[in-house]
Amino acid sequence: MTSTEPPALAALRPRLPSPLTEARDERFERRGVRLLLKRDDLVHPALVGNKWRKLAPNLAAAGGRTVLTFGGAYSNHLRATAAAGRLLGLATVGVVRGQELAGRPLNASLARCAADGMRLHFVDRSTYRRKTEPDTLAAVLRQAHARDAFVVPEGGSNAAAVRGCRALGAELAGRADVVAVACGTGGTLAGLAAGLSPGQRGLGVPVLKGGFLGAETRRLQQEAFGGPRGTWTLDDRFHFGGYARTTAELDTFAADFEQRHGLPVERLYVAKALYALLALTREDAFARGTTVAAVVTGAPFQGSG
Ligand SMILES: *Cc1c(COP(=O)(O)O)cnc(C)c1O
Repeated sequence: MTSTEPPALAALRPRLPSPLTEARDERFERRGVRLLLKRDDLVHPALVGNKWRKLAPNLAAAGGRTVLTFGGAYSNHLRATAAAGRLLGLATVGVVRGQELAGRPLNASLARCAADGMRLHFVDRSTYRRKTEPDTLAAVLRQAHARDAFVVPEGGSNAAAVRGCRALGAELAGRADVVAVACGTGGTLAGLAAGLSPGQRGLGVPVLKGGFLGAETRRLQQEAFGGPRGTWTLDDRFHFGGYARTTAELDTFAADFEQRHGLPVERLYVAKALYALLALTREDAFARGTTVAAVVTGAPFQGSG
């Protein structure tokens, strides 16, 4: 909530609560389903969507220290952290998966991180995989010259982040029966579900393959709240092959959704959640009269824009 943010964050004027709008769409209306869009993509132009909700409490906890975090070469979380560093005057270090990227020109996403002042530190994939092991983490911090850094985990999901996402659920209290969100780490779903009211359900749409997300979401709720909170389910059928994978069908769907609703559809996550909602509606998974809300957790990244 805005009122509990430290002054530096409040000065960035996040648009909270984020807008909730109705999307008139005959594909849903035909089945008696009302579709709402929870526009978290409008929370802040640089600290977009759920990244604001997850980072804000961590930036407050960092207390001015260097913030170090982890991500892949196209990580939305790395870009958001770098932007936060620029906006708040914090030093940031991004530990990037893939030693082989070190000698090459930066892709647009990493170039944006660097332009925002983030120091990039590349590590090989096996080190990256072991980054939560204390010895490996200590070695990475040493090599990155960031021994005193405040460490935020990959994807930004820790207990503080999950508690930050509870407000997203609370903003939707009484407004929808089912709230769908695309999941990477599950942190947003874990917090969202905790903020919903009895009778509401969170619906997670994993964009990664592997089926680990249920256990991970439970673990994050345990860490953040001491036990399970709220009602949530996962539907594992809409990852389209895994992270950053897509198909012609998904691309066509996303482009069409943009046309119909004037909504820029972020492709790594948001497109898959929207697609899942339409597929479930067509399967009559929702009773007539159901209101579903899709959380628009982010906006497309325009390399140069
Ligand atoms: C990071 C991100 C997610 C995933 O959030 P988790 O809390 O890791 O599950 C979803 N949508 C967008 C647009 C994101 O950038």
